[in-house]
Amino acid sequence: MRRCIITGLILSLLLTGCALPGKEKQQYQATYLDIFDTVTSITARCDSEEDFWQQAGEIHDLLLRYHQLFDIYNVYEGLNNLKTVNDNAGVAPVAVDGEIIQLLKDCRDYYELTDHSVNVAMGRVLELWHEARSAGLDDPEHAALPEAAALKEAAAHSDWSAVEIDEEAGTVYLADPELRLDVGAVAKGWSAQRAAEEAPEGFLISVGGNVCATGPKDDSGTPWVVGITDPDGGSGYLHTLYDSDRAIVTSGDYQRYYVVDGVTYHHIIDPETLYPARRFCSVTVICQDSGLADALSTALFVLPREEGETLAQSCGAEAMWMDTEGNRFYTSGFSNWICG
Ligand code: AMP
Ligand code: MG
Repeated sequence: MRRCIITGLILSLLLTGCALPGKEKQQYQATYLDIFDTVTSITARCDSEEDFWQQAGEIHDLLLRYHQLFDIYNVYEGLNNLKTVNDNAGVAPVAVDGEIIQLLKDCRDYYELTDHSVNVAMGRVLELWHEARSAGLDDPEHAALPEAAALKEAAAHSDWSAVEIDEEAGTVYLADPELRLDVGAVAKGWSAQRAAEEAPEGFLISVGGNVCATGPKDDSGTPWVVGITDPDGGSGYLHTLYDSDRAIVTSGDYQRYYVVDGVTYHHIIDPETLYPARRFCSVTVICQDSGLADALSTALFVLPREEGETLAQSCGAEAMWMDTEGNRFYTSGFSNWICG
């Protein structure tokens, strides 16, 4: 039985060992549990612990703001977030922060780029799976799939033409009263990218396994080492990868799932079938932008491998797929990043 691990990627941090006081920087790590319903860790070598916590706190606060803006489940006083947008579908345009506008524009681009395999406008479909999974985890004996007819009906309300982004007015309006947004496939990586752009050099930021490095971990250029979780559990990794300035993102079938009549149903939904994509159990993407990497990891999880490979290449990304029989496939440059 696979272990339930909420992070798609576990950081394997090279221990800095015993730094000489006053000569070498020490390595520190902060872990937060209040962002995007997952584990966030921030790691860096700093002159002082105080310095580290100051920087980590600023990164955390920025990520927390994105968490609140992109939240579709909770409202926050004085803030129009994606829940506000969803709640106003068919009612009225909602004035939103420019970062919501930018995220949605990027999501619209990713939808086109990925041959519609990543569609954050299919929130109604994802909601049905989310509800069925939550109920099934609470009461495993009565775990059930969403109704096929309900999925089909929900999918009829996932058209981007009904997502009206008015940049000048700073508003978003869902013209289809039944359409809902769910940016779960992109938001963690997208936010990690923004955080990395604001962070000092030499930080490693992981938001639920969406990892961004803002430079090597020390002045002599030693890269960070990031482990890719083995979907079959255990303490080993599929690989460890070097990372100095890239985003590394994994989508895996072990990250969220439930079981119905002995069959596992995970959280990455193929918009063609409206059921969990069945080709792969883990896909890792390495590229320069973490938002794109997050969108690509979901897309490559859904698409046939040849199509995914062409897509990755067109984006300058490297990728690794593991299929449900344990076979691994790589883009040609992936091996350049393998540490072990
Ligand atoms: P990721 O772990 O980045 O692959 O994203 C998975 C999350 O994205 C899920 O929990 C859903 O909320 C959402 N999702 C699943 N499948 C899709 C899809 N095909 N398009 C857009 N969002 C999706
Ligand atoms: Mg993703």
